[in-house]
Amino acid sequence: MVWRTQWCESYCPRCKKCEETHLHLFHCQHPQSQMLYRKALDDMLNWLTSQHIPDVLTLDLLNLITEWRQYGKISTESSLLSPPIQEQLRLGWHHLMEGRLSVSFTKYMQEYYEKRNIRKTSLSWTAGFISKLWAYLYWPEWTNRNEFVHKLNSEVSQTRRREEMEIEAQLLFKSEIRTNLLQKNQYLLDDPLTVIFELPDAQLQAWINQFRVAVIERNRIFIPENDQASSHLRTWLQSSLLATSKQRVGSN
Ligand SMILES: [Zn+2]
Repeated sequence: MVWRTQWCESYCPRCKKCEETHLHLFHCQHPQSQMLYRKALDDMLNWLTSQHIPDVLTLDLLNLITEWRQYGKISTESSLLSPPIQEQLRLGWHHLMEGRLSVSFTKYMQEYYEKRNIRKTSLSWTAGFISKLWAYLYWPEWTNRNEFVHKLNSEVSQTRRREEMEIEAQLLFKSEIRTNLLQKNQYLLDDPLTVIFELPDAQLQAWINQFRVAVIERNRIFIPENDQASSHLRTWLQSSLLATSKQRVGSN
């Protein structure tokens, strides 16, 4: 509940464990994020193996993306890795994750294609790799993260609405007006406030609406037009009437 009413936007809406930076999308350990990552890994493997690139480069890329996602850093011995990967590690692996590849990838791939007479260009490979990073790794995570944000916002607004209803129900129930409700409306006071607070949202709102109408009916009879003491009550009644009519319009 504390979380729902005091949600801080700087925290990840999925794992809720750390401050949400743009790179956290790649590191989030929420189960849904991990599931999306496994799918992304399969998709990326399929795409890389269709690109006629060295197997060692495919393995290095997938292993290091996974290691960086899991631990936030790369601890694998650099000398064991293919040349463009080593260069990328010197520049910073997060640059690759954000689509900024070392130029050594282009050089390495061009040489590889030419040696094997593969009719592809290294530029088309790097452009394709960057677009797949976004399509497989970034976009599904971003979409999933936004679904969590919308769900949280909805929960927060529902909680606030409930709190406002309970405050109004308490004011109505404990007000002096209750003692003068018309006989036909006395049923509104049959249950104690503790029972009224247990009502689901829709029923509580209905009870409030009925109470507002009951107050209006009571005051049509009892409040003199020029009674100064009741002027604040008239203001409240007008706002209550307005709120009730808005809710009716909203529910139609
Ligand atoms: Zn997270």
